[in-house]
Formats: sequence, structure tokens, C-alpha cells
Amino acid sequence: MKRPQSVAIDPRIGTPKRCLIIGGGPGGLIALHEHLNPLNRTADESVDVRHVELYERRAEVGGVWFFEKDNDIAKGWATPNKKTSTASSKNTPSNNGEYASNVTDAKHNGVMYTQADALKDGLAVPAEEPQKVSRWVSPAYHGLVGNVLPPLLEFAAKPISKPRLGLFPSMTETHQYLLDFAAPMRSHIHTHREVKHVEPVFINGKITSPVRWLVTSSDWSGQGETKETTEEWDTVIVAPGINEHPYYPEGIAGLQAVLDSGSKVVMHAKTYSGPLPFVNQVNKIVVVGNGNSANDICAHLAPLNSGSPLYRCGRHPSNFAHLKDERILDVASVSAVQLSDDKSSATLHLTDGTILSDITKVIFATGYQLDFPWLRVPRASLDSSPDLTQVARSDLQSASKYGAVPDIYEQMFLAIAPTLCFVGLPTCSTPLPLAEIESRIAARVYHNVLELPAPDVDGLLTSFRTKSKELGLRDDDANGWRGLHMLRGAEERRLTSYLLSWLERGQQGSSDGLYHWDERREGIAKTMRSVKEGELARLRDLRVAAGGVDGGVGGALAVAVGYEV
Ligand SMILES: Cc1cc2nc3c(=O)[nH]c(=O)nc-3n(C[C@H](O)[C@H](O)[C@H](O)COP(=O)(O)OP(=O)(O)OC[C@H]3O[C@@H](n4cnc5c(N)ncnc54)[C@H](O)[C@@H]3O)c2cc1C
Repeated sequence: MKRPQSVAIDPRIGTPKRCLIIGGGPGGLIALHEHLNPLNRTADESVDVRHVELYERRAEVGGVWFFEKDNDIAKGWATPNKKTSTASSKNTPSNNGEYASNVTDAKHNGVMYTQADALKDGLAVPAEEPQKVSRWVSPAYHGLVGNVLPPLLEFAAKPISKPRLGLFPSMTETHQYLLDFAAPMRSHIHTHREVKHVEPVFINGKITSPVRWLVTSSDWSGQGETKETTEEWDTVIVAPGINEHPYYPEGIAGLQAVLDSGSKVVMHAKTYSGPLPFVNQVNKIVVVGNGNSANDICAHLAPLNSGSPLYRCGRHPSNFAHLKDERILDVASVSAVQLSDDKSSATLHLTDGTILSDITKVIFATGYQLDFPWLRVPRASLDSSPDLTQVARSDLQSASKYGAVPDIYEQMFLAIAPTLCFVGLPTCSTPLPLAEIESRIAARVYHNVLELPAPDVDGLLTSFRTKSKELGLRDDDANGWRGLHMLRGAEERRLTSYLLSWLERGQQGSSDGLYHWDERREGIAKTMRSVKEGELARLRDLRVAAGGVDGGVGGALAVAVGYEV
């Protein structure tokens, strides 16, 4: 591909010089990579972004895949500042392999998989509990292994190595991949930098045109105290992820009261840290939901449930890979929840009239809702209304409760202020490859080598209006609004091919190498579920072979070789 020519300057974009990327997960990293890629910019300094920086609030990049050792405390399981023996206090996730219980090495396809391997892969829990409290926990958990096969996971810009064990990369492997990817861009990456507020720049009471952005951020690198800075940026790429705020289904009688009570009987998958806390406990567990996380958790905990089967509540049979195991019983969805008098267990009422009593843990694996409380954007017209709306809190009453980004063009650009765009907003089956395509578009639009396809705000609003209409969104339709950014299979393919064709219209060859839904990838996508189910069964057998919980020896091995899928 040749270096591109610049296009006619669009007054909605202007000639930005400074671009800020918010978030250092996969989405933010690929956005930075594409911004720095010379093939996305002309040699003409007068038309493109020369200064690009990425702010990440946590101590390291990687987003979901960066599982800090202090996650456990933040998730409420570990005890801060607990004194441990000298021997165990040497153990951290990054050094040697002492385990919380007697884990034995396991043989896998004739290859010895040792305790130390498991610890290194992040599949085992170190003997010592971590000491710090994480401010922003990852929704990941011990033993998390991806559910997307490498060809659909990796960026085209960098192939991921073959997983050491099994077919799906582990959390540690995926994180290492992202660290390697970030390495050459370090001078542009600022960790410990939290974005606290973003809003348009006003001059004399009016928003600038093109819209520029005022960004306030805090520096958390020191001890405790943070230093706030406010800066102006010409363009902002928002990539903070979509797994921050737990979503609980509407209409479950008594649920809010239970959550308000602070009871530990009911929890969300975001705070699930792996099976270890369930080991050597009397467990009667209910998992609400049957998507990927719910099914992972069921596969982990089924062997640790005491006596009765582990109940999995769903409105319909699971569409996602799951372990076929008689210890997991599918039941109807929950209609009411109530704590026992001593608050140590719960009773659940299901929609088909079934009552489940003495439940020791109810885990809601029911997804997340969007909310970016730090982001305020204009709606309506820039001239007539300087009123700002909190993004994902649309000014529609109900949407404010459920979260969606209104007035957005093809899940990316704000129609009224396209100097701000999102990367990684949709929920889809291939988030990294889609983020890579989005990032190339963002880089090319902001470097003035790709035109926005519609000449006005109305044109840019088309895709938003179409999708809202398709979903039949009404003010009181909570689930509908959540669905605005959820791409089902066909919708994901449509968006991908539309974005690729947009790139090609700008310059032939500019989508080369990017993820296309070609025959090979369609084939991989089709088999992914059955491959995953085979993997779940294999991992269960691996635990049995190693004498883990299924083999009756003690529980920590469920974590040690517990690929969660
Ligand atoms: C349990 C779980 C399992 C998953 N498994 C898979 C899988 O197998 N395969 C797959 O492809 N995808 C999987 N995903 C989806 C996952 O979301 C993507 O893989 C990917 O992490 C999305 O990248 P992102 O950069 O958009 O968001 P994230 O990974 O969430 O990263 C966002 C980053 O932005 C930072 N940030 C947020 N707000 C601010 C702020 N105000 N200031 C500064 N920084 C901020 C966060 O700290 C974080 O580091 C899984 C998700 C979860 C929760």
C-alpha cells in the first residue's frame, strides 16, 4: 500500500494536531498503533495529527486481560494485610510455584504441565494473598482462558503465538501479547492516568467548530494524592471498554433490597475471582444467565457444588459453548429473591413456579451496562444548544437508566461532533479485529486521508436512526436500548464489511490485511462453539487426571488447571 493523499478538509474535522486516546486495553492500543502507522497518513504535516497520546488509569495496559495480583482484594475475597508465613510470603504470581493446596502436576497430551507452568500462565492461585487494593478491577478471573480462537482474536498487525496448552490463549498469554504489542509505542502511553472529565471547548459560550475537547485527568502514579490536569485536544478516541458497570436484569422482586443490604450471598460475575473461595465450603450455587461468563463459571463450580446440581437460570437454552455435565441443571429465570433471616442464604422463586431454597451463592452473570459518567457531549445543534448530555445517559428518560451512546454513526463517530469517536463500543464475537478496522478508519479520518461518508449531521445520523427503528426503541424499552450496541452475527458481518468498503472507497488497498469475513474465517467461527465445548470437557478431564476436585483431592487444582471457557 502506498502512502495516501490528503482529502479535502472537512470543516467538521479540520486539521487536528493533537489526539488523545482514552483507555489502554486492546481497543486503545490498536487505535494508537493505527494513528502512528505512517501508511495511514500523508507526508504533509499541515493536514494530520502529529501528537498522539494514550491515557490508561491502571498501572499497566491490557484492559480486561491485565489481571493485577491485587484483584482478589478488590473483589472482596482476600484479606488485606494478612500476615502469612515466611515461606508462603515469598510467593507472588510472578515468582515461584507454591500453591494454596496440594496441587499435583498434570500430564496433557503426553506433555507435563507443571504447577509452575500453571502459576506462570495465571491459572493457579499463589499461596500468599495479595496485599493491595485495586482501584479498578478487571472483570477477568483466575484461570480465564479466551473463548475466541487465535485467528479471530489477534490483530492483523501482529499474530498471536500458539497457546501453550489447548487451543484458546490463556489470560496471561493474551496479556503478554498485548504487552508485546504495546512495547514499541511506550513513549506515547501514560499509565496511572485517569480521565475524569471530557467536554467540548467553549469560546464565548459557544462550542468551537470543529469541536475541540477539554479533558481533565488525574495522575495516580504517586501515593494516594492525585494531581488533576486539564488540557485541550483536537480529537479524542474513547476506548474505555464495555465491562465496567454490572447489569442486573429488571423486574426481579427483592433483588435491589438484597443488593442494597451488602449481602455476599448475591454477587455479579464482575467480582467472581475463580473457584478458590468455593473450595472446602458447603455450596449450593445458582448462576443466573447462560452466556459465556455464566457458562465458564458453571464449568468451574459444578464440581464444588455440594449434593444438588448447580442451577443455571436462563430465559432460553444457552446459545454459547457450555460444558455438558449432569451436575449443571438448566432451570427457568428468576422472578424473586429473598435472603434468609440470618442472611447466610437465599431463596429464589423462578418464573415457572419452582422455588430454590438454602442457596449459598447467587451469581449474576448477566452482562454489563454502559455508562461513561466522565463524558459529556452536545446533542441537537452546536449553535443553538450548548447543553451537554452525558453520553450513555441519553436525554431520553429510560435510556438514561440503561445506557447507550445516542446519535452515533456506525458505532463510531458522534454525528454532531465527529472529532470524538469510539473504538470497541459494540458487543460482538470478534472485538479485537473489529477494533482494528475501526482504528484504521479513525486514524485515516483524523489524518485527513479518509472522508466521513455523509456530508452533514443528518446523514451521519442515518445508521443510528435505522438501528433504533429496527429495534423499535421506545423510551421505556430498557433491553432495547442496551441492544443498540449489541451486534448479532449478521449485524457484525454487515458492519465489518461496510467499514472495510468505506476504507477501500478512500484508497484502494487500505483494508488489506484486515479482518474480512472470508470463507476461512467463517469456517473457524462456525466450529468455535463445538471446539470450545470439546475444550471444556478436556479441561475437566485434565483436572480429574491430575487428582483435582473431580478426582476428590482438594479444590485448588480446579484453579490450577481450570481453563475457564
Ligand atoms: C470475562 C471476559 C472474558 C472475555 N473473553 C474474551 C475472549 O475470549 N476473546 C475476546 O476476543 N474477547 C473477550 N472479552 C471481551 C473483551 O472486552 C475484549 O477482549 C477486549 O478486552 C476489549 O478491549 P477494550 O480495549 O475495548 O476494553 P478493555 O479491555 O475493557 O480496556 C479498557 C481500558 O480502558 C481503561 N479505562 C477505562 N476508563 C478509563 C478512564 N476514564 N481513564 C483512563 N483509562 C480508562 C481501563 O482501565 C481499561 O484498561 C472478554 C471480556 C470479559 C469481561
